[in-house]
Amino acid sequence: MRHFAVVGSGPAGFYTAEALEKAYGDQARIDILDRYPVPYGLIRFGVAPDHQSLKAVSKRYDKVADSAGVDFIGNVTVGRDVSVGELLELYDAVILAVGSPHSRKLGIPGEDLPGVVGSADFVGWYNGHPDYVDLAPPLGGTHAAVIGNGNVALDCARILSKTRTEFEGSDIVGHALGALDTSAIRTITILGRRGPHQIAMTPKELGELGHLEAASPIVDIADFPPVEADDALEPGQRKSITILREFAATAADPAKPKRMVFDFFAKPLRIEGDGKAEKIVVERTELDENGAARGTGETYEVPASLIVTSIGYTSAPIDGVPYDERGGKFLNEGGRIGERLYAVGWARRGPSGTIGTNRPDGYEVADLVAAAMPPGSPSDRPGAEGLKRLLEGRGVMPTDYDDWRRIEETEVANARPGSPREKFVRHEEWLQTIGR
Ligand SMILES: Cc1cc2nc3c(=O)[nH]c(=O)nc-3n(C[C@H](O)[C@H](O)[C@H](O)COP(=O)(O)OP(=O)(O)OC[C@H]3O[C@@H](n4cnc5c(N)ncnc54)[C@H](O)[C@@H]3O)c2cc1C
Repeated sequence: MRHFAVVGSGPAGFYTAEALEKAYGDQARIDILDRYPVPYGLIRFGVAPDHQSLKAVSKRYDKVADSAGVDFIGNVTVGRDVSVGELLELYDAVILAVGSPHSRKLGIPGEDLPGVVGSADFVGWYNGHPDYVDLAPPLGGTHAAVIGNGNVALDCARILSKTRTEFEGSDIVGHALGALDTSAIRTITILGRRGPHQIAMTPKELGELGHLEAASPIVDIADFPPVEADDALEPGQRKSITILREFAATAADPAKPKRMVFDFFAKPLRIEGDGKAEKIVVERTELDENGAARGTGETYEVPASLIVTSIGYTSAPIDGVPYDERGGKFLNEGGRIGERLYAVGWARRGPSGTIGTNRPDGYEVADLVAAAMPPGSPSDRPGAEGLKRLLEGRGVMPTDYDDWRRIEETEVANARPGSPREKFVRHEEWLQTIGR
């Protein structure tokens, strides 16, 4: 019997456990560890609360957790409660699926002023991540800006623009809903260093902006290359650009009080303000021969008392695990970090790709594990039994999937009308719910 520890219960962790289960059948026990008693990683804390259909993928993960060979061990932080070295003593292989929880920094002056928040923090705030409950993003000014041209930037801008009725059916947490309800923000500027052809926004997410109750997307046709240039784009990107061109051709709806302004070829130079963010000083750019943004020397100001930076994520290094600072992920070759130690998902590839991208990733690494220690080969490692003994000695109380189900049931029971659940947002609340 082999014993495997998968660290992280986001998509990558669950797909890896699923793949290991398929490869080993009853010849392995797979423990999925997480720092929280609640599973699913960014499905719970990242994916937008108004995109409920995407979150339904967690039903598949529930099936994995229900399999005979798989256990969930929550409330255990690897690197704090137990080291990776200790896990390697206890398990035959350790697979890090810890994701990329931190926002990448812009690296410009003024970034630390109050009012500037990373997208991980802002997204965590509206999704009920315990680290960001008290973020209190300033919503009292009329102007906000989102820096970045990916889907996460779109999520942040859309959440800032929605009305209370548009959040019906979502699981946005109560504190965010209440704060957004009183928001004075009327203009949300989305800044991108390059042009429309270089966006990393998908058609579905862009298309939604055309149907917002209180906000009109504003796009300047002068930012686009001639329409024939769209032919060279891959079909998905072409669709996105077509949607942006439609926005450019449509006048803002005077009945809608909010504006979502796409400001392309805009490179933030610094953030200024008197003790708090008030504006971004931006340099106009153009594309150089390699398609990179080149400053033109022309500068202007974008007013914003809330600035969400959405330029990517980085993993949190873990003691003893080689780390790639530039890539913001663990150093690995095709998922292998070292002897019996592997990485999957964002911890392996860096922060890109959809939920589904993590599936082949998990299966590939499970194949590597199975090649290194073929199913049926013996092991003398103690696995979960040893881990639980070690944790007990340290006063750490792990939780299991039944505990999660009790938390979920209570969240569903607490839901306000029209919402699937009211999430608990503090670690203590999770533990109290399960009587700890
Ligand atoms: C804001 C946002 C919105 C997104 N929206 C979409 C979308 O709409 N559609 C889509 O397809 N994709 C979306 N994605 C991408 C998708 O969420 C990721 O591809 C996916 O979550 C990455 O999976 P992962 O398992 O690698 O990491 P994660 O989902 O981050 O999971 C990591 C897990 O590891 C745990 N962990 C971390 N450190 C430790 C530790 N030291 N010890 C124990 N446990 C630990 C965490 O608690 C977490 O549960 C979005 C991403 C973001 C950031």
